[in-house]
Amino acid sequence: MIELLKLSKQYGDFTAVDAIDLVVPRGELFGVLGPNGAGKTTTLRMIAGILKPTAGTIRVAGVDMSADPITAKSKLGFIPDRPFIYEKLTGAEFLRFVAGLYDQQGDEVEHRARELLALFDLEEWRDELVESYSHGMRQKLIISSAFVHRPEVIVVDEPMVGLDPKAARILKDLFREYTRRGHTIIFSTHTLEVAESLCDRLAIIVHGKIRAYGTMTDLRRDLQGGERGLEEIFLRLTGENAARNLVDVLDA
Ligand code: ATP
Repeated sequence: MIELLKLSKQYGDFTAVDAIDLVVPRGELFGVLGPNGAGKTTTLRMIAGILKPTAGTIRVAGVDMSADPITAKSKLGFIPDRPFIYEKLTGAEFLRFVAGLYDQQGDEVEHRARELLALFDLEEWRDELVESYSHGMRQKLIISSAFVHRPEVIVVDEPMVGLDPKAARILKDLFREYTRRGHTIIFSTHTLEVAESLCDRLAIIVHGKIRAYGTMTDLRRDLQGGERGLEEIFLRLTGENAARNLVDVLDA
C-alpha cells in the first residue's frame, strides 16, 4: 500500500508537485500519466525515498518515509527511468548485489535470480559483464533487480522504454501476476494503450496536480468521455491544440 498526503515538491519558486493526495491499496497496479514535465518522475522519486519532499507525508506499506526511511525503503523496489548499473559486475552478480542490499542471500536469492534471468532470456548472459549488454538487456536486468528481493511495493518510472515486444509482454504479465499475489505496483508511462489495458486505476497529472483519477470507467464518466479511449481523454485534459499547432508550425 502507498499513501500520499498533501505531497509537494518545490524547486526554488517552482512547484513541481502540488499537494497530491493518493492511496494505492495493496494488490493494485496503478498507472501515472501526464505530459512531459508534469511531475511524474518527481513524485515517483519521492515515493522511492530518493528525493525529499518539501511538504506532505509518504507511507509505504504503512511506514512513514520521513520518520523511518530505512524500514520504508526496505519494503520497496525502484526502477528509475535512467538507472545506474555497475558495468563491471555480471548479470548474476548484480542481482546478488541488489539482494544483498536488502540483507537477502543464499539459495532462495540464487533461485529467484536464475528464474528472472530465464524469464527475460538473459540466461546465456548471466556470467557476462553488464558492460557488454545492450540497452534493452540492461533494462531487463534492472527490472529483474526490482523483483529479486520480493518487495511489497514496486515503483517504476517508464518501464517499457527500450524493451522489445516480447520483453514488454513479459513485463506486463509479471506486473499483473505480482499484484495478483498482493503486492503493489505504481508506474508511470507515456504508452496509453499499456495504461488502458494494464492498470486497475490510474491518475493523470498535469502541472503537479492530479487532474483525473480512477478506473477507465470512472474517467469516462467523470469527463463525460462516452466510449472514448484513454488517448482522447488524455488529449482533452492536456493537449487540446495539438493539431492546430502543427498546421501553424508547418505553415510558418
Ligand atoms: P517527463 O514525462 O518529461 O519525464 P515528468 O512528468 O516526469 O516529465 P518531472 O521530471 O517530475 O516531470 O519534472 C517536473 C517539473 O520539475 C519539470 O518542470 C522539471 O523541469 C522540474 N524539475 C525536475 N527536476 C528538477 C530539478 N532538479 N531542478 C529544477 N527543476 C526540476
